Amino acid sequence: MRDYLKFYINGEWKTPDNASTLEVINPADESVAGRISMGTSDHVDQAANAASQAFNSYYQYSRQQRVELLQEICTQYKARMNDMTDAIIEEMGAPRWLASSSQALSGYGHFKTNIEILNDYAFNRQQGDAMIIKEPIGVCGLITPWNWPINQISCKLAPALATGCTVVWKPSEIAPFSAQVLMEILDSAGVPDGVVNMLHGYGPEVGAAISAHPLIQMVSFTGSTRAGVAVAKDAADTVKRVTQELGGKSPNIILDDLDETTFAKAVAGGMKSMTVNSGQNCNAPSRMLVPAERLQEAVAAAKAAAESIQVGHPNSEDRVMGPVISAVQWDKIQDLIQAGIDEGATLVAGGTGKPDGLDQGYYVKPTVFANVHSDMRIAREEIFGPVLSIMSYTDDAEAIRLANDTPYGLSGYVSGADTERLREVVSRLRAGMIHVNGAPMDRTAPFGGYKQSGNGREKGLEGFDEFLETKSVLGIKS
Ligand code: NAD
Repeated sequence: MRDYLKFYINGEWKTPDNASTLEVINPADESVAGRISMGTSDHVDQAANAASQAFNSYYQYSRQQRVELLQEICTQYKARMNDMTDAIIEEMGAPRWLASSSQALSGYGHFKTNIEILNDYAFNRQQGDAMIIKEPIGVCGLITPWNWPINQISCKLAPALATGCTVVWKPSEIAPFSAQVLMEILDSAGVPDGVVNMLHGYGPEVGAAISAHPLIQMVSFTGSTRAGVAVAKDAADTVKRVTQELGGKSPNIILDDLDETTFAKAVAGGMKSMTVNSGQNCNAPSRMLVPAERLQEAVAAAKAAAESIQVGHPNSEDRVMGPVISAVQWDKIQDLIQAGIDEGATLVAGGTGKPDGLDQGYYVKPTVFANVHSDMRIAREEIFGPVLSIMSYTDDAEAIRLANDTPYGLSGYVSGADTERLREVVSRLRAGMIHVNGAPMDRTAPFGGYKQSGNGREKGLEGFDEFLETKSVLGIKS
């Protein structure tokens, strides 16, 4: 049982006044795994004041001092890698293989990457008569989700600290354990008092107070499009910079020029990607677009892939798919699977209910639908579960039209044999990141959405730039 009832404000762990508590549920077995305190706007005010005070000195840290701080964070992080993995497994049900090799490691990776960027970054340049200086934007409010909890915070926190910003951070109240471990890491690395402040709370209360706080100059938000819109509205009166990393409904186009084996591999790979993290990935390839004349081939490959996935307890040593995060999420996924059936899509694998033998915990069957049409809910809404919707197209133009027929634009996937044809399809997809022929994620590539998937970029140079202001100086040369 983890009782994490303190907030970290101004360099101290303090039990907050007048805070209620919230139980944290382990999704693998529905047991109460711990408790956290839930803050109010008063606690946000304390945190924002501490961050604002600390900014006065932290923004004057030299590049070398910030590099050394990030290096120490990496050292401390490495030493706590197993604790981080255990916290992630327990709070959100990621299976051990994923929690250790991807989820926990990603946080460390973002700190490492930002050291490299910071080492080389040109904070000053001369442009004609103007000296252009890049400076930290100030106090940043960071609001993060539960699905990749440490990845999401680290790709904000690492550039914020690297650029010289100070931080007020609200992790997801549903998955707060890894946040506690990270805050302990930062504390033991010697992050100066007030530079990072962490508190828990509900989005519409603590999140909204962060978004509206006059001492906070920027809010970097990751979560649902619904909450991202609320953040932008709450931030508007104080004219903050708002970056939003939001939801997705990403297309996966399989072109018709692949041979039988490669085609089956591309379909199976797409289905398996849908089940990584139990389908709770903002960039999940949830709409698979296949040539109409090869639909049966695609259905057979997707069915076999879905049926080969072992669902099980996240502590298992096997490569299992774990539960989804909560009862609310489980119900939402069931509702959408039922909607797919009711709206006439063909259920190829999985379906409603829990997998055999897994009655306790929020487990979902890997599910595949075929004959899905654009107007169905399972083609339009972000399901955030292991559910694949297969749609068919007659030519490349229709594939591209269907792919872009969504309010989202986070990611896209294309598989095909002809490079020129692949380039053409890539150039016409309206999304922030495109994976060709199963190419994996690159931690240094900017990530973010077109359309209602977001605003701004995280990771890489572009993610670093988000935390900087630009000052033009005339009359002195650099
Ligand atoms: P969520 O929007 O419910 O919550 C995210 C965070 O926002 C939490 O900390 C929550 O407390 C807070 N929040 C909720 N309402 C708020 C409000 N009105 N004002 C301020 N803060 C508020 O999302 P979630 O369920 O935690 O995460 C899943 C969503 O996140 C999915 O839609 C997924 O696609 C998206 N996501 C996007 C990315 C990306 O990089 N684009 C990455 C991961 C997750």
